[in-house]
Amino acid sequence: MTVKRNILLNPGPATTTDTVKMAQIVPDICPREKEFADILEQLQKDLVRIVHGSDEYTAVLFCGSGTINMDVCLNSLLPANKKILVINNGAYSTRAVEICKCYNLPHIEMKVPVDERPNLAAVEEMLKNNSDIYLVYTTHNETGTGLLNPIREIGELSHRYNCVFTVDTTSTYAMLPIDMEKDCIDFCMASAQKGIMGMTGLSYVVGKTKLIEESKNYPKRSYYCNLYLQYEYFVRYRQMQFTPPVQTIYAARQAIEEFFKEGETQKYQRHARVNEAIHKGLKELGFKEFIKKELQAGLVASAIYPNDKNWDFEKVHDYCYERGFTIYPGKISGMETFRLCSFGAIDVPDIENFFAVFKEALEHYNVAVPVKY
Ligand SMILES: *Cc1c(COP(=O)(O)O)cnc(C)c1O
Repeated sequence: MTVKRNILLNPGPATTTDTVKMAQIVPDICPREKEFADILEQLQKDLVRIVHGSDEYTAVLFCGSGTINMDVCLNSLLPANKKILVINNGAYSTRAVEICKCYNLPHIEMKVPVDERPNLAAVEEMLKNNSDIYLVYTTHNETGTGLLNPIREIGELSHRYNCVFTVDTTSTYAMLPIDMEKDCIDFCMASAQKGIMGMTGLSYVVGKTKLIEESKNYPKRSYYCNLYLQYEYFVRYRQMQFTPPVQTIYAARQAIEEFFKEGETQKYQRHARVNEAIHKGLKELGFKEFIKKELQAGLVASAIYPNDKNWDFEKVHDYCYERGFTIYPGKISGMETFRLCSFGAIDVPDIENFFAVFKEALEHYNVAVPVKY
């Protein structure tokens, strides 16, 4: 059996290998069986290992898309009478602020322009002047633009002021090397359809076990999405509390095996060269990028729409889509962009093939090449 190979340049789900796709085809099994518990337990260990966590860290699994992790961390890790600091320079941190509002969580939103990194002195000032901040939250790679945040520095500051540091690493986990200890991360998170190149429906929070245990008596703001309850249930029964995404978990197991086989560094280098090929292709067609290259995570390129009456993103998208390539609109208010991501099981030749089709699409719709601004 062969499956058509599509090149996904959208920010996840990403292109997967056939072996990961096929790993979902397994005999039916009840996830309460011991055989399945063994798989979950191994998965948990491997997820911690990917970010070099020692035995002081654990992984808590959830059935849901990546946003469930954000919801879980924000609603579960805040003691009564304490505040969250959200450092916001993009769409995903804005989502974190919306979650805080939804649960009425006391929070401070530190707004930073979407094309800039936060000023660390300002972060420190904020922590110094607000001793009731307990949780510091930021996004590693703001996937809406591709901006990389200085997590290690923010983590250090958080710890200096006795705060817990939570990072949304959904779009970097298993793509950029991450080290829990060295990067001063207490909690990070990801979803199986991104960095590990698995399927949708499985998400995980990796964090310090001690801090999860400390959260036992924090106010419970959700029944389904509570970190401690999900953690504790697994410790007790070696099962997820509620029905897990069974087939997605089989695929995740295969994907992780392939991650370790490829190697952290080799995989990172592959994403980097794919990203370079994307920059090169965009540049050759005259596209301008929204984020300065030195501020990018190296995983998402955000190109500005050209100033050409014939440019129509939808049409260009459809032209590429029909030929097996998916491109994606941007997520920046007040600025029209589209994104090309270097996630997934792809390499430089795929990008070269993409740009041949993309150029053809521009010519087909009479968009001037190189593009004009
Ligand atoms: C993809 C992503 C998420 C999760 O989005 P879902 O649509 O819920 O999968 C969260 N944060 C970041 C930074 C992401 O890139």
